[in-house]
Amino acid sequence: MICNVDKLINKYPTLHYTRSPPNCNFDVIEGNFIVNATPVDLSSTCYWTFQFTRRCILTKILLLLIKETSGKVNSTFPHVNPNGTLCLAVETEILTECTTSQGFDVLMWFDKFVLPFFYSFEYYKANKLYPFGERRHGAVGILEFYQEIFRENDAQKALALLKYIAHGRCRGHLSCPCGSGKRIRKCHSKAIWNAQVTLSKVRMLRDYNLIMHEKENYYE
Ligand SMILES: [Zn+2]
Ligand SMILES: [Zn+2]
Repeated sequence: MICNVDKLINKYPTLHYTRSPPNCNFDVIEGNFIVNATPVDLSSTCYWTFQFTRRCILTKILLLLIKETSGKVNSTFPHVNPNGTLCLAVETEILTECTTSQGFDVLMWFDKFVLPFFYSFEYYKANKLYPFGERRHGAVGILEFYQEIFRENDAQKALALLKYIAHGRCRGHLSCPCGSGKRIRKCHSKAIWNAQVTLSKVRMLRDYNLIMHEKENYYE
C-alpha cells in the first residue's frame, strides 16, 4: 500500500496524481518542483520536472521509480541507473525509512530521498562534492548501508553479521559472528538487536544473497 499521496500533493501543489488505468499497475505522479539550493548559491532556485511511477513487484514489495524528465539529470551524472531512473539510495534503506503502519509513505520518501537527491545533484554540479556523501553501487553500497546499521567499519565483519542475522537467531552467550572470539553480549549485541528491530529478515536475506551473488560473479 502506498499512503499520503494526498499530503504530498498538498505540500507540493504543482504535482499531479493519476491513478493507474485498469490492467496497468502504474500510478503516476508527475510535475514540477523547486529545489532551493541555498548553501550552494543564495540566488539559485532550480526548477525540476520529473515523473515517478509505482510498481508492485511480488505482492508486498513496493518500488517507486523516479525519472527526471526535463533533461537536467542525464546519464553523465553517476547516480542515474542504467534504465534511466534515479539512484536515490539502497532499496532496503528506502523501504525501511518510509514504511509505516499505513504503508509506504510517499511524502516521507519525497522529503527524505527525492529532495536530497536533487539538492545533492545541484551541490555536486557546483562543488564536485556530495553534501551528504555518496553510496557506491551494487554489493559494496548495500554493504555500506549495513556497516552504518551495525556501526562497523570493517566490511567483512558487517557481512558476517548480516549473514548470521539473516539466517538464524542470535543468543547472547554464543560467540559473535564477527570473529572477535568474544560472546555476542560482549561484542555486537547492540548492533544485532538494532538490526533485528529495524529491518525485516526477508530483506536482510535478500540483500545478503544479492551481495554474495555479485561477489561470486565478479570477484572470483
Ligand atoms: Zn547511486
Ligand atoms: Zn562482534
